[in-house]
Amino acid sequence: MITGTHVSYYQVCKRKLWLFVNGIAMEHTSDLVYEGKLIHETSYPQRPERYEELEIDGCKIDFYDARNKIVHEIKKSDKMETAHEWQLKYYIYVLERNGIKGVTGILEYPVLRKTSCIELTDEDRLKIGEMEKEIQELIEAEGCPSGITDKICKNCSYYDFCYVGE
Ligand code: SF4
Repeated sequence: MITGTHVSYYQVCKRKLWLFVNGIAMEHTSDLVYEGKLIHETSYPQRPERYEELEIDGCKIDFYDARNKIVHEIKKSDKMETAHEWQLKYYIYVLERNGIKGVTGILEYPVLRKTSCIELTDEDRLKIGEMEKEIQELIEAEGCPSGITDKICKNCSYYDFCYVGE
């Protein structure tokens, strides 16, 4: 089952996606994940009452406003904004696939006081279809894809794994 995390990692780095699906799980030790959790807890203390947490087709959506049909995705830094946007679009796509139409999204960076509205277009639907195929191929691939060399690597939980010996 492809989830929003797969889609996000696919956008960030194919190697990261491959390591993740092959059970090389270091994410739980990542400070960023911890900080992300903290943002959820401290920035929006009222949220759990107002919005639902939804699990659908393996995707865990933290803040769903069912009345207004809006998925809220909250992130700390906008450095990987494209990946965040696709993750959110994927949630909308999955809801649509399950018969919940007319959903939109709001991507929120409370620390930066920045929000963006996200909509799923026909072009996005086609792209997600292609992405799902490529993600499935990557999941089944035997070899670990090459990594990227980017400043985002420093904040990746696989940094030690990829840069060991350098
Ligand atoms: S450290 Fe860089 S190359 Fe390695 S998985 Fe993370 S993003 Fe990819």
